Amino acid sequence: MSISPATKLYAVVGDPVAHSLSPLIHNRWLHEAGIDAVYVALHLKSPDPAADLRALARAGYSGLNITLPHKVAALASAGSASPEARQVGAANTLVRENGGDWIAHNTDVDGFSLAMAHALGSDPRGRRVVLIGAGGAARAAALHLAQRGVELAIVNRSKANADALAKALAPGAETADLGDLNSLAERADIVVNSASLGHVGASLPELPAGKGRPFLDLSYGKAARDTLAAARAAGWAPHDGLRMLVGQAAAAFRIWFAQSPDMNGALSACEAIVAVRG
Ligand code: NDP
Repeated sequence: MSISPATKLYAVVGDPVAHSLSPLIHNRWLHEAGIDAVYVALHLKSPDPAADLRALARAGYSGLNITLPHKVAALASAGSASPEARQVGAANTLVRENGGDWIAHNTDVDGFSLAMAHALGSDPRGRRVVLIGAGGAARAAALHLAQRGVELAIVNRSKANADALAKALAPGAETADLGDLNSLAERADIVVNSASLGHVGASLPELPAGKGRPFLDLSYGKAARDTLAAARAAGWAPHDGLRMLVGQAAAAFRIWFAQSPDMNGALSACEAIVAVRG
């Protein structure tokens, strides 16, 4: 790879960001497509992340992915936003428009849709889904699930946050706190975990017998390890969040470069890294 003044700059911005597999995925695709661009990871710890994201546009970055905890600030930093980003209330992808402002997108919805279809193996319409968590990832998931007409239950540590999510994006969804997880999961066709508890070493309450039903954790690597092990031990078919990661990355790549990258190759590369580093 040769870098010149014409080389375009892309980055993932977050705090923390060192664990991110996005540079691996996007630099692989840039190389495969022969695009003169590089993609780096930027650790942003800031009292005003929206202002800093606007500064990155002025500094010449052509596009950004945004991860925890800056997705709401990313939407605020943009001059305009896609309908999905506005509905979710957060952005994970920014693209610089001609005037120099960011346009905000939320490709987590596309990523979740791919992961969900793979885990369930069929159209989710009319199926019973238990969604654990009510943060940014849950908002993307709830938007997709509500649009597909699933029978949704949102279970969260703070029930008030589950209520707010249901009111905003999934009217009609049942809401509960984690104490009701076991009984709700008993009746579910799939359980989706979007709670970030694996990052802090916390665990879910005990699950009922899975009897081969799918359990999708949106995190991956170490953050997903214990939750997926517990699900597997209870008889659930476990899936991690790597497919969602690659799906949201591919949707961002299409927005930036108007071409579809090789998702299977990127997924295999991510799986190989996660297998080595846990
Ligand atoms: P948020 O910080 O927005 O939300 C965190 C959620 O986890 C909240 O519902 C919170 O509950 C819950 N939670 C946090 N700690 C605990 C705990 N100790 N016990 C129980 N519940 C807890 O995070 P995101 O929604 O952005 O991310 C959630 C997960 O999804 C992360 O693991 C992230 O890595 C993953 N993710 C994966 C993506 C992918 O591409 N695969 C994309 C985006 C996210 P409360 O409301 O009570 O605080």
